[in-house]
Amino acid sequence: MARLLVTGGAGFIGANLVQYWAAQYPDDRIVVLDALTYAGNLASLESVSNHENYRFVKGDIVDKELVERVLREEQIDTIVHFAAESHVDRSISGPAAFIETNIVGTHNLLHAARAVWLDSDDAPASHRFHHVSTDEVYGSLGPDDPGFTEATPYAPNSPYSASKAASDHLVRAYHHTFGLDVTTSNCSNNYGPFQFPEKLLPLMIVNALDGKPLPVYGDGSNIRDWLYVEDHVRGIDLVIKNGRSGETYNIGGNEEWANIDIVRAICQGIDEAFSSDPTLAQRFPGAPAASGGQSASLITSVKDRPGHDWRYAIDASRIEGELGFSPRHDFATGLQATITWMLDQEPWWRAVMDG
Ligand code: NAD
Repeated sequence: MARLLVTGGAGFIGANLVQYWAAQYPDDRIVVLDALTYAGNLASLESVSNHENYRFVKGDIVDKELVERVLREEQIDTIVHFAAESHVDRSISGPAAFIETNIVGTHNLLHAARAVWLDSDDAPASHRFHHVSTDEVYGSLGPDDPGFTEATPYAPNSPYSASKAASDHLVRAYHHTFGLDVTTSNCSNNYGPFQFPEKLLPLMIVNALDGKPLPVYGDGSNIRDWLYVEDHVRGIDLVIKNGRSGETYNIGGNEEWANIDIVRAICQGIDEAFSSDPTLAQRFPGAPAASGGQSASLITSVKDRPGHDWRYAIDASRIEGELGFSPRHDFATGLQATITWMLDQEPWWRAVMDG
């Protein structure tokens, strides 16, 4: 039986991992530590809130005393570290919070883990610190470049990716210098249930339903690899359970899409949903699809983001070969599931947008 501390567990991927873990390993203890910033929502954890092995602690990973106290009193042996400022646009308008949470906060967790797991008499027999990171640390690719491998040199270009790169290096250093048992996963863009509607997919879905413009940076040619969140969570599980200590694993979906094609696919999915369900026109009267129009008429080009990386792609052969990982959703099925979830869960996204 494991005893998990999930930082950032009220955020998008963290909440998906907590729900998955509680269903998969009901005997494991799950303690969520989350500051409940704008991106964290207790409503995303409602389905596990009555689980007897679950506890929520509202708090900041920068709070040293709190982190160490929770590790000791809950006898945590596994940290799954999601807590971060995660939106690139916000890192451009206000980088300081990214330095504080992503770098200082990660260091604080490592420091506390070292104190409790390596320098205490009552340390657990074994431990694992799993750090959740991003493919954005590797920088940008040209059209014909091969995907990022774990050996690709770091070249972060935004304050967000630079802060994540710094946190990755700290995790590595705590393994090599102090012997902490760590793993890191660098994943491509996630999408799926419980994603805050500032990120591409949920933002476009909400705006199309409300009849608002669908803003696309520049010509929309920027390419990302996309992975359905449930597949990411399964990949993290494999790395925690079977990944080699001190190692990093790239996780990707083998689904490279240009932003403009994603937005068009969303528009088509919404138009089809309105054609097959007439009640949607009553629920979302502002949507073009409600009056026989096309969601794509809302697509609007906006000034490009400064320093916008052009292409990311992942070579996931290490996690596939070593740990047997493969995504269960392709982009078409994942997008369909996401649109259906958003249509079914309007109260969730209205509530999180209202703060
Ligand atoms: P998110 O923004 O949805 O959630 C972040 C969570 O962390 C929120 O619940 C927030 O309240 C919490 N948090 C923020 N600052 C905190 C602090 N100081 N102390 C405690 N809690 C704090 O993020 P996400 O999209 O779920 O991403 C989770 C992790 O996965 C991040 O580390 C991110 O870098 C990484 N990642 C995300 C993606 C993606 O596509 N979303 C892809 C690869 C990696």
